[in-house]
Amino acid sequence: MECWNNGITGILPGGYVDETGIVHQEAQLTPLTGKEEELLAQSRRQESASLVTNVLSRCLKRLGPIEPVPEEVVRCLLIADRQYLLLKLREMTFGERVQASVSCPWPDCREKVDINFSIKDIPIKESLEKGPFYKMELSPEAAFKSDNQEDYREIVFRLPNGGDQELVSPLLAENEALALSMLLERCIVEIGPVKNPGKELVDKLSPLARMEIEKHMAAAAPYVELDMEAHCPECGREFTLPFDLYHFFFGELRTSLDMLYREVHYLAYHYHWSEQEIMDMTREKRHKYIEVLADEIERMNNAVS
Ligand SMILES: [Zn+2]
Repeated sequence: MECWNNGITGILPGGYVDETGIVHQEAQLTPLTGKEEELLAQSRRQESASLVTNVLSRCLKRLGPIEPVPEEVVRCLLIADRQYLLLKLREMTFGERVQASVSCPWPDCREKVDINFSIKDIPIKESLEKGPFYKMELSPEAAFKSDNQEDYREIVFRLPNGGDQELVSPLLAENEALALSMLLERCIVEIGPVKNPGKELVDKLSPLARMEIEKHMAAAAPYVELDMEAHCPECGREFTLPFDLYHFFFGELRTSLDMLYREVHYLAYHYHWSEQEIMDMTREKRHKYIEVLADEIERMNNAVS
């Protein structure tokens, strides 16, 4: 957090495995400028997964030795890695504190509860094995019955990434079961001796087999804990609060679009800089100039009186 111009460096909990098998975990992020703030604040209709790809492509400056980072690489990042980067970006743009107000979920209470936590306190679990492919064995009961009555128990899968999320997330709200099936079709790369089994074979896996595969996937994946324990001071009970990171992050940017334009106007008016120049600044820098300007105006007012 020290050096604003070069951004911050973080360690991805999963990491990007390049085509030679090397894992890259060191990620350097630059802060959003007014341009990205505007772009994101305006893209209301975009699915949040493609929005995440969009914003990370602009702000992920370096990944290990990869610089610049192509959009395709951002799309290949695991879901938890993308969540981690978004958290870091949130921290750089708005600070580490998160303040929100929710309703207590207990039906007999429903009181307003203030939530206040630091992004730094969100638990992050690193993946032990980096893949990109994972082998597992189904239990005998869950074995896949092939057309020639053979039992296939060996499964090879990869973990869901941003590209999967982009394709699946529009479906998720309408038909969760279908969305999960689609995700499995994409992530299961071998069933027994069959490579790239595709929809037809993956659909034939029993519910037990799917459950076992999903369990292995969850255990192998890195993880960002976005479910938080909260306490209602009114009724004294605990509840779990799912922290909707995407909604929260993009929601904050959206509400501030009006403010962004007013800040640009204010700086253009006093400094005569072009809109382009001001929009290229980071939020931090913009706010520094506004502060300096406010001090200056106050000093001049005092001198006059
Ligand atoms: Zn309560």
